[in-house]
Amino acid sequence: MRHVKIENLNVVYTEKGEDVETIKKRFNINPIFPIQKHTNNVCILEEYNNDICDGLITFQKNKAIGVKTADCIPLVLTDFKKVAVIHAGWRGLVSGIVGNALKQFANVKIAFVAPFIKECCYGVQEDFFNHIPEEFKQYRMEDDYKLYFSLEKALIDILKPHVQEIFQTSRCTKCDGNLYSYRNGDKIERMLTVAWLE
Ligand SMILES: [Zn+2]
Repeated sequence: MRHVKIENLNVVYTEKGEDVETIKKRFNINPIFPIQKHTNNVCILEEYNNDICDGLITFQKNKAIGVKTADCIPLVLTDFKKVAVIHAGWRGLVSGIVGNALKQFANVKIAFVAPFIKECCYGVQEDFFNHIPEEFKQYRMEDDYKLYFSLEKALIDILKPHVQEIFQTSRCTKCDGNLYSYRNGDKIERMLTVAWLE
């Protein structure tokens, strides 16, 4: 488990063999996870009623929210007054979930990106590019006869104009070995990324 603290923001993400109980025990918190379906919906926790959404935002202190991922992007945004957590795979990313979360803030101070699959391991088929909007086609990468899509470059380009500081890890969920990866065969297990403000 990794714990990062930036001012009053806490972010925790789990590694293999750890689950929500590991987080609960260590931090004495009870995180709330949305019902995720690769949508672009971001729900406000204070109005949340088991709706389907892939992002949560809360204005309360010491209220932990989280997302479950295995290769998708776990993203935390904060202005130190409210905090958002987002689950973004390629579907969420190209349908604008990050923009939908950014809209809830006048000024995002910190974006923290927990590990996800990097372009080293995100091979795609040619027809993948028929399913994404034009502006995302620039994140196509090629070497020899293989095609890749860079979730990372797409994400950073979306965040940069709106966020003061972006923190991320270089870990790739598939290469790492100590993180759950759907593409590496972890079909059920999920990495948890949880955030709260003190
Ligand atoms: Zn990799």
